[in-house]
Amino acid sequence: MRSIVWFRGKDLRVADHGPLAEAAASGDVIPLFVLDPHFFRPDRARDLPHRMQFLLDSLEALAANLAQLGSRLLVVPGRSVEVVPRLATQWRVDRVLAHRWVEPFGRERDRRVDEALGRSGIPFQLFEGETLLPPGSVRNGQGGMFRVFTPFARACGARLDPGPALNAPKRLPPLPGGLGVDVVPVPTMAELGLSTNPRLQAGGEGAGRARLKAFVAGPLADYAGDRDRMDRPGTSRLSADLKFGTLSVRAVWQAVADAGGGESIRRYLNELLWREFSHHLLWEWPALLERPFREGFSGFPWREDEAAWEAWTEGRTGYPVVDAAARQLLAEGFVHNRARMVAASFLAKHLLLDYRRGEAHYLGWLTDGDWAQNNAGWQWSAGCGCDAQPWFRIFNPVAQGARFDPEGAYVKRWVPELAACPPAFIHEPWKAPRALQAGLDYPDPIVDHASARERFLATAKGHLGRGTP
Ligand SMILES: Cc1cc2nc3c(=O)[nH]c(=O)nc-3n(C[C@H](O)[C@H](O)[C@H](O)COP(=O)(O)OP(=O)(O)OC[C@H]3O[C@@H](n4cnc5c(N)ncnc54)[C@H](O)[C@@H]3O)c2cc1C
Repeated sequence: MRSIVWFRGKDLRVADHGPLAEAAASGDVIPLFVLDPHFFRPDRARDLPHRMQFLLDSLEALAANLAQLGSRLLVVPGRSVEVVPRLATQWRVDRVLAHRWVEPFGRERDRRVDEALGRSGIPFQLFEGETLLPPGSVRNGQGGMFRVFTPFARACGARLDPGPALNAPKRLPPLPGGLGVDVVPVPTMAELGLSTNPRLQAGGEGAGRARLKAFVAGPLADYAGDRDRMDRPGTSRLSADLKFGTLSVRAVWQAVADAGGGESIRRYLNELLWREFSHHLLWEWPALLERPFREGFSGFPWREDEAAWEAWTEGRTGYPVVDAAARQLLAEGFVHNRARMVAASFLAKHLLLDYRRGEAHYLGWLTDGDWAQNNAGWQWSAGCGCDAQPWFRIFNPVAQGARFDPEGAYVKRWVPELAACPPAFIHEPWKAPRALQAGLDYPDPIVDHASARERFLATAKGHLGRGTP
């Protein structure tokens, strides 16, 4: 039995890798990665600099890990819908194995690859692994997908036994001879016209495992209390590992569940279920990448306001938490979850700018930028997503700051103009005594919270045509 194991950017690991384990157990293994111009053309790569850096790190690490096991990662440029069927025929393989993707464009790619392989009689087998349970498999009493998180999580919990993560194969067979293909090295950032950002997390399976271990031994114990605190390193920072699959979600679940019981562990596993929920939603409703979940929001009269957009993206809105989030995103490709919610809500509700613009901006700059989770996060924050709460809840950036960054340490880290501002005014510096304000060199708020809130409520009520849909 000869198998291509097609690594596809969401499973860059050798441990708990179903396709690799299956191939290794039954004969020749050809590990393949395709440099598809859809992502790797320099003008495309420039749209996602941080994700690209993490991905290239992770690919290098994967190549090294496979070499250590006795095999070799073949990196081949070209369009995957053409390259994979061509190589499968040329190498006379018995099957192509890969992990399933949930995104509509990934599903379409897989449909085309399957069709082309089918013409040569070569099976294309997709494995689960991006999620804990197969997308589409968690159903409500009527057989449909849940529209609200809590019953979805309950239904998952009832079925959830992810089972033990698979160990990495101990050895892999050497590549079969005579493959005769032009392989290329993993490209560098410079070759893609990008500069390396030293503030980013390092990618790769080893780095991911070290992060997981450090989290379980440290911040996990206080996760329930600290996870919302923007000023504390209280979360796992595993989102990019989960996105690129340098760690499997099952391995993370297992490591955390094995750490014992208690509220912190329960809360953490619950966050993994939020991740699960967003993937199952996108599987069920692929159009979510373009359309709001709450249909009433279709055609919403978002404003055009370039000055407001620039202030939001550059971190000059005059609202410290919103500005800190904007600058953290550009600087280190990450934003604390609480700050993401406040900043996203501010764009859509305070500024009345189309959430899809913010969604695309985040997807471009986040290292963990993930279609399903980012879309769910943006729709939730804009009020048009899958949320048990009504759309008219509006985050107050001042109150959020005071509660989850009480001393202003998060703000001061990213907005150094406010370094001299005392905690009493750090989230509303416009209320500081005039003499202090004069020395701060920080803009006045671009909108007033109370009036912006009223404007959103009036616009939404008018558009939705009823009070509380
Ligand atoms: C506007 C907005 C955009 C977002 N975009 C993304 C994105 O592109 N990619 C992404 O991975 N997450 C996204 N999230 C969810 C969340 O902010 C991040 O997963 C989290 O901040 C990552 O940090 P962490 O790994 O330290 O999280 P932890 O608190 O340690 O959580 C553990 C894991 O659970 C998952 N998770 C946590 N919170 C959520 C959530 N609310 N929804 C879905 N999954 C969650 C993540 O995989 C995370 O790594 C977004 C949230 C919002 C509000």
